[in-house]
Amino acid sequence: MKTLEEYAALAAQSHGHICPGQILGIRMAMLGLGSIGIDNPAKDRKRLLTIVEIDRCATDAVSLVTGCRLGKRSLKFLDYGKVAATFVDLESGRAVRVAARDDSRTKAKAMFPAISDASQAQLEAYKVMENDDLFNLQAVRVKLKPEDLPGRPRSRVPCAQCGEGINDGRERRLGDRILCRSCAGERYYEPVTSDE
Ligand SMILES: [Zn+2]
Ligand SMILES: [Zn+2]
Repeated sequence: MKTLEEYAALAAQSHGHICPGQILGIRMAMLGLGSIGIDNPAKDRKRLLTIVEIDRCATDAVSLVTGCRLGKRSLKFLDYGKVAATFVDLESGRAVRVAARDDSRTKAKAMFPAISDASQAQLEAYKVMENDDLFNLQAVRVKLKPEDLPGRPRSRVPCAQCGEGINDGRERRLGDRILCRSCAGERYYEPVTSDE
């Protein structure tokens, strides 16, 4: 594992700015990985799966440290709106969930009263605060389905209505028809006609 400062420099580049969320995400991932016995995420990348619970700043840093990515299926996003992530060692089944403590913000803001910029003060505090003050950590078990794991697609079928291919069992069955989620009524978009 790299140091906090090394990760922070990389995070500033890939995320576009350095912010309290980057520091929090880096520390969250370092703590989570250490707790499941993964010391070198670059080497153990294939063993590792991470589930993030928010689509905000910290998530980019979690992805940076773990090397887990959406496109590799090793990063899962569950939209629970919480600054929390679960780190799973696929080999041993060991997993921990690390959640940022709500009172860490208040503590952080009080730590560096001399720094007038609130966000900067928070960032500096997050660098030095104890893990116990920043996070709650619990050992957990995560049930993962084979069709959710990295690797080649487990199945691929065409939608009977739109004809688009559907991977990994995400199809719906309506009577005897196999449909994609959109055609089965879960479409999140509306087509726009040319005269609109
Ligand atoms: Zn940010
Ligand atoms: Zn369809």
